[in-house]
Amino acid sequence: GLEGAEDTDTDLQPRPPVVTIMGHVDHGKTSLLDALRKTDVAAHEAGGITQHIGAYQITVPDGSKVTFIDTPGHEAFTAMRARGASVTDMVVLVVAADDGVMPQTIEAIRHAKAAGVPLIVAVNKIDKPGVKPERVKQELLQHEIVVESLGGDTQEIEVSATQRINLDKLLEAISLQAEVLDLKANPNRAAEGTVIESKLDRGRGPVATVLVQKGTLRQGDIVVAGAEWGRVRAMLDDKGRQLKDAPPSLPVEILGLSGVPAAGDNFIAVENEARAREVSEFRQRRARDKAAAAAGAGRGNLTDMLARIQAGEQKEVAVVVKADVQGSAEAIGVTLGKLGNDEVKVRVLHSAVGQITESDIQLAKASDAVIVAFNVRATSQARDLAAKEGVDIRYYSIIYEVADDIEKLYKGKLAPVQREKFLGYAQILQVFEVKKIGKVAGCRVTEGVVKRGAGVRLLRDGVVIHQGELSTLRRFKDDVREVNNGLECGMSFANYDDIRVGDQIECYEVETVAAA
Ligand code: GDP
Repeated sequence: GLEGAEDTDTDLQPRPPVVTIMGHVDHGKTSLLDALRKTDVAAHEAGGITQHIGAYQITVPDGSKVTFIDTPGHEAFTAMRARGASVTDMVVLVVAADDGVMPQTIEAIRHAKAAGVPLIVAVNKIDKPGVKPERVKQELLQHEIVVESLGGDTQEIEVSATQRINLDKLLEAISLQAEVLDLKANPNRAAEGTVIESKLDRGRGPVATVLVQKGTLRQGDIVVAGAEWGRVRAMLDDKGRQLKDAPPSLPVEILGLSGVPAAGDNFIAVENEARAREVSEFRQRRARDKAAAAAGAGRGNLTDMLARIQAGEQKEVAVVVKADVQGSAEAIGVTLGKLGNDEVKVRVLHSAVGQITESDIQLAKASDAVIVAFNVRATSQARDLAAKEGVDIRYYSIIYEVADDIEKLYKGKLAPVQREKFLGYAQILQVFEVKKIGKVAGCRVTEGVVKRGAGVRLLRDGVVIHQGELSTLRRFKDDVREVNNGLECGMSFANYDDIRVGDQIECYEVETVAAA
C-alpha cells in the first residue's frame, strides 16, 4: 500500500470503534473511563503497568476491542476537530442521574451533533438513593435526544461507574453502535492517523501517542507527525508493552520523532527519509503561511471560505446562529434552511438565544462555521477567542440582511468583506440633558478605547437595543477624538437618545477586507 492511496472495498477490514466520553463536570467521566479500563479481559495476561498515554484499548469478553480516548470532556474533542482531525466514531454522553442535564451536557450534545457523531447516553450514579433516571430522559428530549425507551434511536444505559453497575451493558451498546456504523479500515497499507497527545520526555525525548486510523504502523517505520519526523525507534501500548506493529484503531506511544507534534496533527508513514523531509518541509511552510495570514489582515475563516467556495473546494456553508429572542433565532433558522443551491448547501449547526460565548467560537472553529449574531454581542472572552482563532462573527439586526449576506457568501459574491474590529466598551454612569445636543451619557470606558465617529451598539442586559454612530465625545468640556480605558467621558449618539444608567456601549470600526 502506497501512502495516500485510496482503499477499495476489498481492502477494508473491520476495525474497533474509537469512543470519546463527554459530559458535565463531576458527572463521572473520569470514573467511567477508569471503570471501563478495568473491564479489560486482556489486562491480566499482559502483566504490564498501565500508564496514561491519552487513549487506551480494551478487549471485551467476546474478544472484540474498543478504544477510548482517555481525555474526558469536549475541549480535546473540539481542539482535534479544529485541527481537522476526526478520531471519534461515537460519543458516550455521561449524565449524572442526581444532577440531570447541565450546561456542559448540552455543549457536548452540540459538539457531537456538529461532528455528525452518534451518541450513547450513560445515565450515571444510579447507585445513589432516590435518583430519577427518568427525569434525565425527559430533559434530553428538550435537546432533541430521544432515547430508545421513549421511542427514539439513541441507546441509553443506566450505570454506576463507582459501583461498576451495567458496564457490560454499556460495552454492548458500544458494540451495537459500532456494528451499525460498519467501521472498517485497510490494515495492509502505510499507516496514517492522528496525534492524540505528545510531550517532551527527559529520558526518552519527544514522545507522541498516535491513533492509527488506516494501515499498520511498524517499529522502524519512517513517519511524519505534524511537521516533525523520524524513525519509530520504539512503540508502546497503554500497558507499557513494546509492540512490533499497530493495526487500525490502536493507540500507541511512539519514540524517535525529531520534535513534539501537537494533538490533532496528522501522522503518516512514508517510504524513506527524503520523502519524510519533503512532507515535513511542506507542512512547516503551510504552518508559517497560516500564521502569517492570521497575524496579517486579521483575516477570519470567512475569507478562506469564500476562496474555497469560489475554487469549488467547499460544498457547505455552516452557520451558528445566536439571537436575542427565540422567535428571531427560529426565523433565521427557517430562512437559512431555504438557502443553498446545487453546488453549495447552507447548514445551521446550532441556533440559540443569548450572548456569543467561547463555546460558540469553539464550535464554529471546529466546524469551520460563520457566526450570525442577531441583536446580540459576544462576551469579551469570546471576542478575544474569535480574533485568535480567526472565527468570523457577523452582526445583524434585520433578518433579510442575514439571508442576503449568507446567500452572497455561498454564491461566492461576498466581496469585499466587511469586517468588524472591536474597539472598546463603556458603561453609562449618568444621563443628563445638554442644550443643543440633547441627552448625553456620562460614561466610563471599561475596556479598550472609544472613538468619535465609530460605530456603537447600545446594550441593555446583553441585548442590542440600538446600533448607530457615536456623534459627540467629550472629556470635561473639550471635544476629543478618542478616550481610553479607565477614563470618564460624555457621549451622545446620532439620532438616538433612549439611554439609561447601566447600559453598556460597545464601540467598533468597520474595515473592508478584499475577499480572496
Ligand atoms: P468528571 O468530572 O466527570 O470526570 O467526574 P469524576 O469521575 O471525577 O466524578 C465526580 C465525582 O462523582 C467523584 O467524587 C466520583 O467519585 C463520583 N462518582 C462518579 N461516578 C459515580 C457513581 O456511579 N456513583 C456515585 N455514587 N458517585 C460517582
